[in-house]
Amino acid sequence: MSKLVSVVVIGGSHAGLAVSQKLLRQTTRAKVTLINPSDEYYFNIAAPRFLVKPESLPQSKYLYSIPDAFRDYPADRFTFVKGLVTEIDVATKSVSVALAANSATTTTSPPPTATSFGFDYLVIASGSTTPATLGQSGVRLPFKATAFEDTRKAIHEAQEKLRTAKRILIGGAGALGVELAGELAEVAGPKKITLVSRSSELLAGATAPVQRTASLLLRQRNVHVLTGATVVAAVHEAHSQTWKVELSTGRTYTVDAYVATTGTIPNNAFIPKSFLNAQGWVNVDNQLRVLEDGVSRSDTYALGDITCHPYRLLSRVPLQGETVAANIVEAIEKRGQVRTYLAEAQKKMMVVPVGQSTGAGHVGGWTLFGCLVWYFKGRDFLTYKAPRFLRGEEH
Ligand SMILES: Cc1cc2nc3c(=O)[nH]c(=O)nc-3n(C[C@H](O)[C@H](O)[C@H](O)COP(=O)(O)OP(=O)(O)OC[C@H]3O[C@@H](n4cnc5c(N)ncnc54)[C@H](O)[C@@H]3O)c2cc1C
Repeated sequence: MSKLVSVVVIGGSHAGLAVSQKLLRQTTRAKVTLINPSDEYYFNIAAPRFLVKPESLPQSKYLYSIPDAFRDYPADRFTFVKGLVTEIDVATKSVSVALAANSATTTTSPPPTATSFGFDYLVIASGSTTPATLGQSGVRLPFKATAFEDTRKAIHEAQEKLRTAKRILIGGAGALGVELAGELAEVAGPKKITLVSRSSELLAGATAPVQRTASLLLRQRNVHVLTGATVVAAVHEAHSQTWKVELSTGRTYTVDAYVATTGTIPNNAFIPKSFLNAQGWVNVDNQLRVLEDGVSRSDTYALGDITCHPYRLLSRVPLQGETVAANIVEAIEKRGQVRTYLAEAQKKMMVVPVGQSTGAGHVGGWTLFGCLVWYFKGRDFLTYKAPRFLRGEEH
């Protein structure tokens, strides 16, 4: 039998899992090495719900074992490495990895001890993080996974902070800010929630009816909505355990928790600069091959949040995953079927629960009633889809 082709996938979240699973299903000629700093898949989409209402979703609905999801593949076809890629060496076609202490695991064979992995094909799916996740701005909330950290501990600490805070100011009224405000407005006990929006409406990019509905629903729930304002400074005062938040309007708020819901930071520390655009995202062509100084590489692909495509959304990941997997299979098996990806061809949609039972949203030009927002997302924040994303089965 011919030697297996080695595919290294960097990042074991929605995008990395999609490619790994699809590849293993579509060809028997690839050996996949999936590298991620945690061995748990974190379904971060539901964070606004479980960070605010811990009882509403058990952890088993948003944290899953990655190695377990690959148990059905033989050991020579799949390796999971619990580690962080620190460098890509395109000359030797290898990646360097910092392994998590005493924790590298595979599905069926002993843990790898190597700190360098060679590849025939490389997939970059290292995604993005947020200032709140890193604790760079406001209270630290795990909106995304953090490297090597105990995700459960980070979640628990965040839940406690939000539970005990009585006055909360949220900076940023995109989908995450609105969802979080909607959840906080529903929890027991007196809470004063302020949501600050840079633009004159909430949910920039949504249709006007959706923006109006979101605003109305929040105001009905006594959320103080401030538009046309930004947070210019937020300082934590240790002696009073409060935040002083200064707005562009000149007004200063004293709150128990300041939550920043804006900002998307590329996880690109290990990626050659020649792959990146000026903002630090990976340039890709229409086959999702990485562009190095403007020229398509034949051995490196990227997908998910880390690419230069502007809509950094989970809903974009399945099609990108199908494209990358199909093109690597094509490169290996030469079936003559190259797939292309067109971001513009994917429907624009926004589905934003405001609390447990309603919300605002649109799919293309269709405005969704609150009950449909509840049905599609609000009832369990899409966690019913997490097992499908884990197995790379979502389309
Ligand atoms: C709170 C929140 C709610 C959201 N809700 C929605 C929603 O409702 N609908 C929607 O469509 N989108 C939503 N999004 C956007 C969605 O989360 C992203 O589009 C999605 O996570 C992208 O997946 P990804 O796999 O590309 O990247 P990420 O999910 O960012 O995962 C990247 C993975 O790579 C790993 N990694 C990073 N660096 C390295 C390295 N050096 N070596 C190895 N591994 C590395 C990370 O640890 C992580 O596991 C939401 C985002 C947030 C923050």
